[in-house]
Amino acid sequence: MSLFLSVVPVEKALIAVRDIGAAMPEERLSLMDAHDRILSADVSANTDIPGFSRSVVDGYAVVAADTTGASEAIPAILRLRGKVAMGIPESPAVDPGGCVYVPTGGILPEGANAVAMVEYSEEVGDDVLVHRPLAPGENMVARGEDFRSGEVVVHAGTRLSPRDLGVLAAIGCAKVPVSVPPRIGILSTGNELVPVSEVPGPAQVRDANSYLCSAFVRERGGIPVPFGIVPDDREALKEHLERALNECDAVLLSGGSSKDERDICAATIADMGEVLIHGIAIAPGKPTIIGRARGKPVIGLPGHPASAFVVLMVIVNELMRAMTGERTGPRTVAARLAAPVPSARGREDYVRVAFAEGMAIPLFGKSGLLNTLVKSKGVIKVPASREGLEPGEEVEVILW
Ligand code: AMP
Ligand code: MG
Repeated sequence: MSLFLSVVPVEKALIAVRDIGAAMPEERLSLMDAHDRILSADVSANTDIPGFSRSVVDGYAVVAADTTGASEAIPAILRLRGKVAMGIPESPAVDPGGCVYVPTGGILPEGANAVAMVEYSEEVGDDVLVHRPLAPGENMVARGEDFRSGEVVVHAGTRLSPRDLGVLAAIGCAKVPVSVPPRIGILSTGNELVPVSEVPGPAQVRDANSYLCSAFVRERGGIPVPFGIVPDDREALKEHLERALNECDAVLLSGGSSKDERDICAATIADMGEVLIHGIAIAPGKPTIIGRARGKPVIGLPGHPASAFVVLMVIVNELMRAMTGERTGPRTVAARLAAPVPSARGREDYVRVAFAEGMAIPLFGKSGLLNTLVKSKGVIKVPASREGLEPGEEVEVILW
């Protein structure tokens, strides 16, 4: 076995994870249980929404042309023909020269095409004086103006937000098709690791990655299943990995993903399946493994939490999208760079940034330091084709 990783471009690694990330099956959930789940099929309106033309103000339904030229001094004088009652479809019709009182949300009477607000109207005996001219369609919503029957209201791949759920309820979609969340096994490897509850001895460190990976998986619509810490021992790793693969749809390992003799992840994955990629042209995060064991995806992340996080964001994110069907992109913002960002051509660099006075400040730190993870607000990508970014250059910050 060679001492060096054979590094592939990020694009190739993304294709590999899309390929091994089988789409999860679908289930139907009540809207109350569907928040944050990924919609697995388009949902369309099965009737026009709203189902009837209605007023958006308290006022008088009129024929707009009757109000042409109306003003404070010379109002349009219309005969009041009656009232619309909420929830009742029958009402007097509006004829030229006539009007009908309609409350907010009330059905627009036959013949009307605009509504004069009560604030600009005045009832005098059997007449209504309208002091403003109205355009056709003013202060009303026409049937089907919100959604046409058959129109897609929420697209497959949407992570369902409170806004989506409210609209789905309004169109009468009581149950929604969503993808079953994948169960993702999480294992931290390393003889030096101790659980968060223990005080590390000299040369030991606390296991941060179990928490980092678990929360990330949850954020991306999966169910994390932590399997704890595994020593750098092939038999122990194999046993844990076997159990995780039995119980889960995919497994994330961290640590031991490089080529050191202790770095046993690739060898263990190869024993149980195949290593597809070992080494990605990304920084941080080069010693990453993409493999398949017992027919399921296994990703080996570098041990440094800051590196592991970049691999979660770029590679594991793509795997999760393939499995859940999520299509929503990351939230980004444009900003100008406050300082130069050096990089190597042929490698995709991810640099954490903070913001000050509207500028993106790159946060550099030695490999393995944690502080940039909490001090940063997001990350910028230096494409493989660039040798660096200039100060003042506009960049797209992918927000955490
Ligand atoms: P490795 O990828 O195993 O060579 O580890 C690289 C560095 O990351 C070492 O300093 C490890 O101690 C550290 N490391 C590995 N796993 C974890 C973890 N789960 N939590 C925190 N640090 C880790
Ligand atoms: Mg290690």
